Amino acid sequence: MRIETLAIHAGGEVDAATGAVTPPIHLATTFRHGPAAERVAGFEYQREGDPTNVRLRAALAAMEGGASALTFSSGMAAIDGLLSSLPAGARVVLPRQCYSGLRVLAAEFLPGLGIATTAIDMTDLGAVTAACAGGVDVLWAETPSNPLLEIADIAALAAIARDHGALLACDNTFASPLLQRPLALGADVVMHSTTKYIGGHSDVLGGALVFRDAGALHDRVARRLHITGATLAPFSAWLTLRGCRSLPARMAMHCANARAVADFLAVQPQVAAVHYPGLATHPGHAVATCQMRDFGGMLSVQLRGGRDAALAVAGALRLFTNATSLGGCESLVEHRASVEGANPASPQDLLRLSVGLEHIDDLVADLRSALAAG
Ligand code: PLP
Repeated sequence: MRIETLAIHAGGEVDAATGAVTPPIHLATTFRHGPAAERVAGFEYQREGDPTNVRLRAALAAMEGGASALTFSSGMAAIDGLLSSLPAGARVVLPRQCYSGLRVLAAEFLPGLGIATTAIDMTDLGAVTAACAGGVDVLWAETPSNPLLEIADIAALAAIARDHGALLACDNTFASPLLQRPLALGADVVMHSTTKYIGGHSDVLGGALVFRDAGALHDRVARRLHITGATLAPFSAWLTLRGCRSLPARMAMHCANARAVADFLAVQPQVAAVHYPGLATHPGHAVATCQMRDFGGMLSVQLRGGRDAALAVAGALRLFTNATSLGGCESLVEHRASVEGANPASPQDLLRLSVGLEHIDDLVADLRSALAAG
């Protein structure tokens, strides 16, 4: 089945008990069992699993083409769920340019678990090979990356990981399974912040890992999730499952709008650079064209006037709301350097745009007048 069909039907089966066409939510924290803890219907306690999360996991595994999936209370919980399950002494090679939460996890928490991390330019395959030569257990890619939209070559990274006996994990949040399927390109694990495009409405936090094989790695991470309890609540699982159904339609419009915004911004005199993999000038355009079906709804822009100009434009926008996060129906803008703390990795002149589903003429008009005012 095609992904548009899976997005609606995988995990969306008609409820056998009632005939309800949309999935029910089971809020129960505990499920009846026999006197010697014999399971009656497969469930025991919500921290370990519940029927709504089972449906969502099936939907995500089907859309990514994986054997199994685990769902978490946030995207960061999913990242932590994988990396903190590694044994002491494990080595992780990470992208230098990635979501700031991963950088903080690597700097402040993984070393305490005896997990060593090295951050490198993931678009430079020579640098990746050199970093892996020192030993690697997990190679982590985030493509397109947040917020610079760098493109990593998933198939090439998978080959390097294989050569070094490592796993390739890929954060597929920006692309969503609609635009990019890392497992088919050789990755072993796909990670999502389902808070973003999959949830799709800026009203539910969540994360997921999808595994190529339902083997020992899945079991270890599932065990840790069960015991540490970064569980996705059933109502959140239900909202996320609802998001899956409209993901294909939403992604198509996000992509069309973002491309139009990128084309508009690229020729504005106030703009120094537009980072959007759909632009032929983007250094990752050729790789993105090979591994993505379309280029997504995220872009970032650097202003000629530096930090002051970026803040002035952000302040003058009316339809683009100044807020963090991305992937919802409404357009958002964020000066990433301002939210990244004391030592921001993002350039001071950079604004990140999450291009929403408003009419493109209104979005362009908003950008035009904010650039004029800024
Ligand atoms: N990965 C990427 C690419 C993100 O953009 C984010 C959040 O912005 C995360 C992971 C973390 O997800 P969450 O905020 O759901 O914990």
